[in-house]
Amino acid sequence: MEKKNLDWANIGFGYHQTDWRYVSNYKDGAWDEGGLTQDANIVLNECAGVLQYAQTVFEGLKAYTTEDGRIVTFRPDLNAERMEASAKRLEMPVFPKDRFVEAVAQVVKANAAYVPPYGSGATLYIRPYMFGSNPVIGVKPATEYQFRVFATPVGPYFKEGAKPIVIKVSDFDRAAPHGTGHIKAGLNYAMSLHAIVTAHAEGFEENMYLDPATRTKVEETGGANFIFITKDNKLVTPKSDSILPSITRRSIVYVAKEYLGMEVEEREVYFDEVKDFAECGLCGTAAVISPVGKINDHGKEICFPSGMEAMGPITQKLYDTLTGIQMGHIKAPEGWIKVIE
Ligand SMILES: *Cc1c(COP(=O)(O)O)cnc(C)c1O
Repeated sequence: MEKKNLDWANIGFGYHQTDWRYVSNYKDGAWDEGGLTQDANIVLNECAGVLQYAQTVFEGLKAYTTEDGRIVTFRPDLNAERMEASAKRLEMPVFPKDRFVEAVAQVVKANAAYVPPYGSGATLYIRPYMFGSNPVIGVKPATEYQFRVFATPVGPYFKEGAKPIVIKVSDFDRAAPHGTGHIKAGLNYAMSLHAIVTAHAEGFEENMYLDPATRTKVEETGGANFIFITKDNKLVTPKSDSILPSITRRSIVYVAKEYLGMEVEEREVYFDEVKDFAECGLCGTAAVISPVGKINDHGKEICFPSGMEAMGPITQKLYDTLTGIQMGHIKAPEGWIKVIE
């Protein structure tokens, strides 16, 4: 198969239309058999549930080429399970897990020419999503839905090595207690846009959100979970019912315990203790881990000893081990790597 002639190193993170996408429709209480289409556009009634009351959930994962030339995805079964939880919380039907994993595989295979070559640092980003499609004007769940998966090639997240970023403690809240912070829903992102645009205008790359009830505990950023390394090399990561359960973070916790023999604490993390940590990172599919060098709390700075030049040494070890597993240099735990054949 001939690869597309794209400048893989410089495509950036944007939508680049590929040839095939998957669609399945839900009507009269059942999903149809679904399949691939070349049509990238969706025609919806003006009153569709998603347009009026934001009934939509999504996922994000990547396909990439390993050193031995195989195209693989990373733990897509966990994306399927998370989308199931998201759908249930928004009163949407569940797209079955095996069909989700199969739809992702079909889209990757059909767009294999867009899967960047090994060593380019680029990947094929995959976006499964679901939305209410029939007209809804009285506030209630839609009765018809569409599940889709498209893919778009994206460039390397770090072009010149992972430079630590500066973030701020936000005055906005991301997720209410007992709200929807733990599901991957577009609505969580809509309300975070003002906060991130504000942070960027002030010169910060991300927001650290605290728990809205007490403003004393660390939650997450708009799209990544926190990890911290203590001065005695323990991994600490916040636990809260309103944090989105990052697959990257859960994988890092496993790698820390099982590959690196580290002690791991998943617990409430008070903002007051953050100044005592040695390293800080943000984890999510896009970057795997972005190192944080500095946190600005209303003008008061917390500067991590790992500094502003490079990832801290333990964060680097976690990053190298997890990306080594993903790329096939290090043996993966059973079931983590799904080969697309
Ligand atoms: C998607 C997402 C993450 C990262 O999850 P991964 O599964 O690691 O990509 C973290 N926080 C939020 C709010 C998210 O939407």
